[in-house]
Amino acid sequence: MKNPTIPNLNLPIHSIFCIGRNYVDHIHELQNAIPEEPVVFTKPLSSVCYSGQSIVIPPQSTDVHHEIEIVVALGKDIPMGTFDGNSKVIAGIGLGIDVTARDIQAKLKSKGLPWDKAKGLDTFTVLGGFESYRNQNLQDLSFELAVNDTIRQSGNTSLMMFPIISLIQHLNTYYSLYAGDLIFTGTPAGVAKLESGDHLHGEIHGTDVNLFVTVV
Ligand code: ZN
Repeated sequence: MKNPTIPNLNLPIHSIFCIGRNYVDHIHELQNAIPEEPVVFTKPLSSVCYSGQSIVIPPQSTDVHHEIEIVVALGKDIPMGTFDGNSKVIAGIGLGIDVTARDIQAKLKSKGLPWDKAKGLDTFTVLGGFESYRNQNLQDLSFELAVNDTIRQSGNTSLMMFPIISLIQHLNTYYSLYAGDLIFTGTPAGVAKLESGDHLHGEIHGTDVNLFVTVV
């Protein structure tokens, strides 16, 4: 998709940052090491699709996984190294799926190469709804993903290794951040393979934020 925007917030997306390995239960299921600092990667804007659309399983992969994640949208510019820890830089909180071709990722990981090719295919960045940030407790958001009406992943941001404000702090050590940046904050356990015909439903409990997609 070209020139995507953030649902409900009326902001063009600037960059898409993602955090890997931020929930211990998911680190264990993929037998990864506990990171000493946040694992950061990015996704291209071309990979965005929205709730109501479909994830397309590409011919390049036979093992495409869902990763449901809380997504933070920034509403202010933060020049590199200037973040003061104030949560007012957050414009909204939403839900997304960091779709991952696990077979491509495993091959790249084994060679010590970047994961980008496993994470950036068309439709691999699903954006559900967003709600404005109004001082909600960032570290007590409960969320889940159901596939074909069976809950596959459920998480709470209280279980993050690196909380949201510290993720913004860490990113800003290396990058200038801008209004319209999205941060995928990591996935809890339960990632699994998607099949053509699956229908997915995600939500943040106690909010109107949700997400519906099918798989083709
Ligand atoms: Zn992820």
